[in-house]
Amino acid sequence: MNKTTIRVPFNKPSIIGNEINYIIEAIQNGHISGDGEFTKSCQTLLEKQLEVKKVLLTTSCTHALEMAALLIGLKPGDEVIVPSFTFVSTVNAFVLHGAKPVFIDIRPDTLNLDESCLEKLINRKTKAIVPVHYAGIGCEMDAIMNIASSNGIAVIEDNAHGLYGKYRGRSLGSFGCMATQSFHETKNFYCGEGGALLINDPSLIERAEIIREKGTDRSRFFRGQVDRYTWRDIGSSYLPSDILAAFLLAQLEEKNKVQHTRKFIWEYYFDHLCEWAESYGVKLPFVPAHCEQSYHMFYLLVPSYEARQALISYLRKLGIYSVFHYLPLHLSAKGREHGGNEFDCPVSLDISERILRLPLYNDLTEDNLSYVVNSIRKFDWRY
Ligand SMILES: *Cc1c(COP(=O)(O)O)cnc(C)c1O
Repeated sequence: MNKTTIRVPFNKPSIIGNEINYIIEAIQNGHISGDGEFTKSCQTLLEKQLEVKKVLLTTSCTHALEMAALLIGLKPGDEVIVPSFTFVSTVNAFVLHGAKPVFIDIRPDTLNLDESCLEKLINRKTKAIVPVHYAGIGCEMDAIMNIASSNGIAVIEDNAHGLYGKYRGRSLGSFGCMATQSFHETKNFYCGEGGALLINDPSLIERAEIIREKGTDRSRFFRGQVDRYTWRDIGSSYLPSDILAAFLLAQLEEKNKVQHTRKFIWEYYFDHLCEWAESYGVKLPFVPAHCEQSYHMFYLLVPSYEARQALISYLRKLGIYSVFHYLPLHLSAKGREHGGNEFDCPVSLDISERILRLPLYNDLTEDNLSYVVNSIRKFDWRY
């Protein structure tokens, strides 16, 4: 096979600030397991930046979602409403702890959960709604929170894309009783593998600490609130090493620099592809005026599946790695076990066949950007 050299990868992790120094410091501190100084600094910084009551770093967003599933106390038969157009973990975390997933379609404009479909999916068994702020553009949280509270349902925001995004001036992740973040290397801020559970309902904090610490009250022990720690509840091990937290803290401290760069890249794509998109019936992302996005992703909605595939392989030949995104979960092998086709999610299916994501990472250069944009503009639509 002819191997094309990669000129512009889809994603690439990079050093932004003090990562290396902090890692050395973590080791020299003599505490590289979980909940060391760097973990605490990350948590405090995020609590302040996002105005949430409690942040607990976790080993991944998947694990933060699993903690959330344990914290809402699912009983057999309980249902959780999740978008079909999302990452597997958004649903797996709840299914793993006994929930039946109920798939909801997305809006064709923001690709977020379509809040107008919520009411018909809610019944006595509905325990939670899990909005995903796709591409870091806020879901319609006013409507979602209203419907949830009038039906006594928990809201858990999967905010893996949306760190520092806002909805009507308020941080994404600060609306639901809980929210989750990812620090996987494909997100805006990362430490390789990592995540966080954001807790807005104070009554959940103590149990969250116990579940995260193997079911023990070790956190209270370290704060001097109890004189020994014991087995208190179910739990597991969701603490990341302080070495990872050290890397992450350096990244979070460069919030403005990172977000500024990503905004520049996003707007470069938008400005340079606007006219081209218009003339070929390609749609660019839509950001409602009341949403401040997180600049996580730039995508094109190409007119057909065939055109999308042709554009991906054309770019690949030029060394540019563009990628598709989620396959609808309701039609996946596992989703079908839970009712699959019963769920009517035509927008999810349509979008999944036509979406194409462009390279977006923190040290993508302007040279590379103009190469990507010019290559796209030269795409031959008669493929
Ligand atoms: C990346 C991602 C996750 C999973 O994050 P991990 O930290 O890798 O577990 C979950 N949900 C969404 C929407 C994601 O994009």
